[in-house]
Amino acid sequence: MHRSGATMAWNVFKFCTALRGLGSIMILLVLGVVGVTYYAVVLTNYGPALYAGGLDSLVALAVLILFHSLLVMLLWSYFSVVFTDPGSVPPNWKPMIDEERGEADPLVGTEFSNVLSDPNQRVRYCRKCNQLKPPRCHHCSVCGRCVLKMDHHCVWVVNCVGALNYKCFLLFLFYTFLETTLVTASLLPHFITFFSDGEIPGTPGSLATTFLAFVLNLAFALSVLGFLIMHISLVAANTTTIEAYEKKTTPKWRYDLGRRKNFEQVFGMDKKYWFIPAYSDEDIRKMPALQGLDYPSKPDFDSQ
Ligand SMILES: [Zn+2]
Ligand SMILES: [Zn+2]
Repeated sequence: MHRSGATMAWNVFKFCTALRGLGSIMILLVLGVVGVTYYAVVLTNYGPALYAGGLDSLVALAVLILFHSLLVMLLWSYFSVVFTDPGSVPPNWKPMIDEERGEADPLVGTEFSNVLSDPNQRVRYCRKCNQLKPPRCHHCSVCGRCVLKMDHHCVWVVNCVGALNYKCFLLFLFYTFLETTLVTASLLPHFITFFSDGEIPGTPGSLATTFLAFVLNLAFALSVLGFLIMHISLVAANTTTIEAYEKKTTPKWRYDLGRRKNFEQVFGMDKKYWFIPAYSDEDIRKMPALQGLDYPSKPDFDSQ
């Protein structure tokens, strides 16, 4: 029994090490897909079409402007998820004590484990990091540390998705969906000519790239759409992917403040910043939830 447990722990460790090793390869893979798509859309098909004249030139211009704008937003969001610290626990973090209720410091004279600061919420302790866990914080075995409001470890961005980069991650999904849909739609006429009987224009290399780019972008558009729908429902309910799995046993969710507030907790209150992977200074100052340490719960939660 003990042996099999140790073997399993070892296997998980090896799996996590493998995921970590996969890191830079995934970034190269993303850049590779972007490169193939760029070659197919800009260099092979719509760039040359600019000089065709008439309506074709106008369509090509529109496709190219939209393609490049979405690409800039996609890459900006992508590298923001990759390089933003998802949220680490400040050293010696302690839960805030509710002074109004006159509760004593729950940590005094205990071993920090299973301490109650509030009847509904336990203060949890991470044995691996040797520190207390703020609410909604989870330990990531791939990163080897605790991550604030951890959503999941994402192999595509080689980082954890947590409190501070969840918005960037959602925007990355959003712009990837728009870009891959645009590419699929704009390459569709070229893809259809593969199956026509007439002579197909272009070199074998450019035809192969167009074919590959179409198939890849269609596959990404469909799978990202699934993720996007899932995350929209998670944001609407103020739940992380991890909590969605845990929540099944507790029907009431303390952090659900209503759709508008749940949305603002992730995207900020400043509308100008909703579509870019950043927050206004005022949002960062005003919203402790963005730091991942303090989450307001439903006002009526404790009374029910
Ligand atoms: Zn930890
Ligand atoms: Zn991680």
